[in-house]
Amino acid sequence: MPELPEVETVARGLRERALGRSITRVEVLHPGVLLTPPAVFEEQICGRRICSIERKGKVLALGLERRDGDPLFLMLRLGMTGQVTVRDRAEPLEAHTHVRLGLDGADKEIRFRDARRFGRLRLCTRAELDAVLAKLGPDAEQIAPEAFWRAAQGRRGAIKSWLLNQRWLAGVGNIYADEALYAARIHPLARPGRLSRQSLLRLHQAIQKVLRHAVELQGTSFRDYLDIEGQPGSYQRRLEVYGREGKPCRRCHRAIRRLTVAGRSSHYCPRCQPRPRHHAQPTQPRRAA
Ligand SMILES: [Zn+2]
Repeated sequence: MPELPEVETVARGLRERALGRSITRVEVLHPGVLLTPPAVFEEQICGRRICSIERKGKVLALGLERRDGDPLFLMLRLGMTGQVTVRDRAEPLEAHTHVRLGLDGADKEIRFRDARRFGRLRLCTRAELDAVLAKLGPDAEQIAPEAFWRAAQGRRGAIKSWLLNQRWLAGVGNIYADEALYAARIHPLARPGRLSRQSLLRLHQAIQKVLRHAVELQGTSFRDYLDIEGQPGSYQRRLEVYGREGKPCRRCHRAIRRLTVAGRSSHYCPRCQPRPRHHAQPTQPRRAA
């Protein structure tokens, strides 16, 4: 599932390849991914210039301006398997391509593809976009150490669930939560409110470092995620714990273990991340926030 580094990689790619261009042609192949009626979507988008590209957490928004009206925003959520690429219009369509947005000046188009169709595109006003973004916690790349520490106070659940909750911190998903907890030597069931200030600041730093490094490597590709040019990311080679159950810890050689927290697999090293005395209980499967 795309997390902050993957969505940021797409945002950077779009800034390079699509920013400043106008949308000259809209083709909706599968209206199920639109939260806006297809006819309105096509009519509203055509002829608009892409004037901004912003991201908060895993939400991406393209600002679209037209000389005779207020700017609109195309909000994109990649869901589980969504991909945004900029391709030559002549290139054969890949399976599960749902929307094509032709760009002026070159035979290029933005393609939205999504095998599992949990991703969504929605046309909205600034106020509507802001209302969605306001429900998200601070972006994980931007949050200050002090604010991170403060947000953890009084939290009694498992730190892993807390990191995944987009209302507290936007952008961190399963992969980077596991990697950051390992880097900070914190057990996934530790309770945020019980951790020392020093541990929380260490975790804050680990999150920043892991995300920054993943952005540099264009994200992690397991199944479907690709960058704007259709290339996979390469952070998966750097993963220390995620997907490494049974393999030796790169620090201490103990076998990496897996347990379920908030319905998601958590990978950790039992020696480097010892379970604290006051810990949360592993929970039963539940939909992640
Ligand atoms: Zn270890």
